[in-house]
Amino acid sequence: MSAETAMILLVEDERQIRETIALALECEGFATCEAGNAARASEQVAQHKPALILLDLGLPDRDGVDFIRDLRAWSATPILILSARSAEDSKVDALDAGADDYLSKPFGMAELLARVRALLRRRPDEQVSDAQLAFGDFLIDCVKRTVSRAGEPLHLTQIEYRLLAYLAANPGRVLTHRHLLARVWGGQAVENHQYLRVYVGHLRQKIEANPAQPRHILTEIGVGYRFQP
Ligand code: CA
Repeated sequence: MSAETAMILLVEDERQIRETIALALECEGFATCEAGNAARASEQVAQHKPALILLDLGLPDRDGVDFIRDLRAWSATPILILSARSAEDSKVDALDAGADDYLSKPFGMAELLARVRALLRRRPDEQVSDAQLAFGDFLIDCVKRTVSRAGEPLHLTQIEYRLLAYLAANPGRVLTHRHLLARVWGGQAVENHQYLRVYVGHLRQKIEANPAQPRHILTEIGVGYRFQP
């Protein structure tokens, strides 16, 4: 199925918002299905197997974060959160639970569509795990555990390598501090945000043309990081 005909599930209890978004998506050539609560959303996922889910966290029947946790037990469908909640905690909880990206309300339709296209582009890569990851002039060899820039080897410590490889393997995805700490350092380190800050600083020094204005390892303030290839 091409990205243009992909089915997108809209989970939103405010009908006006749902219809506005559905119309914008349909104008872009996407097919849509809708749900006004979490129970209906689960049915729609099973029935239509959507390529992407747009999820409002404030649903009448269940907490959106619980919905994500349960869904992730049986579906890897990408989830873009549409959150009216200003608290960063709920966004972080939702990303930790397995959501892929978020937009805070109010948002512009152009940005929503750009995020939708980005998530749909990433889908095929999820099926295939490649032993080589490339971005810019860089090549990461996941078998040899080496990184080169324009053919020249780049010296990284073990932690720097693991962090960069994990970021590069998840392009465009918002990765929370806790998620990265658990993946790179292990579950006991999830509260040690300073580890991450220090090592992201090291990596930026090594891979960014201007570490003060990074183009690859982007900060998501209060949430985590996003890797841009
Ligand atoms: Ca709502």
